[in-house]
Amino acid sequence: MKSHRINPMKQSAQILFFLVMPALLFAAKWYKGNTHVHTVLCGHADSTPEVVAQWYHDRGYNFLVLSEHNKFIDPATVKLTGEVREDFLLVPGEEITGKVHFTAMNVSRLVPWDFRDKNRSVVMQNYVDETEKAGGTNILNHPLWSRMVQAHEITPVKRLYMFELYNGHPGVKNFRGAHHPSTEQLWDALLEKGMTMWGVSSDDAHKLKKWGEKENNPGRGWVMVNSEELSSDAITKAMLRGDFYSSSGVMLEELVRGTNSIELSVNEDETACELASEFLFGRPVKKGEPGTTIEFIGPEGEVVKTVQGTTAKCEAKGPYLRAKVTHRVKNEDGSLREYYAWTQPVFTDGR
Ligand SMILES: [Zn+2]
Ligand SMILES: [Zn+2]
Repeated sequence: MKSHRINPMKQSAQILFFLVMPALLFAAKWYKGNTHVHTVLCGHADSTPEVVAQWYHDRGYNFLVLSEHNKFIDPATVKLTGEVREDFLLVPGEEITGKVHFTAMNVSRLVPWDFRDKNRSVVMQNYVDETEKAGGTNILNHPLWSRMVQAHEITPVKRLYMFELYNGHPGVKNFRGAHHPSTEQLWDALLEKGMTMWGVSSDDAHKLKKWGEKENNPGRGWVMVNSEELSSDAITKAMLRGDFYSSSGVMLEELVRGTNSIELSVNEDETACELASEFLFGRPVKKGEPGTTIEFIGPEGEVVKTVQGTTAKCEAKGPYLRAKVTHRVKNEDGSLREYYAWTQPVFTDGR
């Protein structure tokens, strides 16, 4: 006679399955993406949309915005070759290129770019409004390039939530110079003035035929987006919630942005893997010891806590708190290079 006794091991495995499966089905994942790159269509880049998309596909990225100057590239027209990964997505976009440059992300068509006004706040608002009409959202690109976009010009712009904190183009300024602040200082100025602003890291690459540190190649700046699925809408919504971090080399293992705290740990293996990339050079610096430092930063750019190591947690004392990881490497010739990860801020003032 057949026994109907339930195998307790099997039963607990089934219970576990039903408990865990919904969590697995709906669990958010980290997706690697680049929101800014160019193709031959702009006239000053060297590779076709297909070649550019293939480069990112073949190097493990999950999504890419082909953000061409004042041109809309329909992802459906870009054909990849070989075995195409299911977890690779082209998010439709454009780089609105006028007095200020904006990535228009997840748009359904070309966004008009030729609006003119002496006041750059008015121009930026027009870009936001027009991008919304095309179903998308914006990133203010390379604010320190050419004539710097000032904080007082950005703060009046409504519904602008992202800007480029790091841009991999060798001709673009990201860090503080003799005559300009850093993008991080600009960020703190915007956050202090009450803006909800997330920092994006991107490539802005134009060249895939000649390679080198001084060339404008891809693979130097990216975002890691925590999204429930890999679709243009889901990725864009996750970024608008600030559910992502920006990287120029450092990868995180864990990132918890609580209601008034940030907790994070560095994924040392994945960071080592990124740093081994032949496309990544890091920022040359003159001073400092090699190793990993986590800084928690509040209003006025004040570093409220510094941890030497790969795990840290901090509570916000002011209206906002953000974290920055610096990984400093000493090369055989004694030169130093820095690589970063930047988390998005948490706000305690109801923003
Ligand atoms: Zn640009
Ligand atoms: Zn560009």
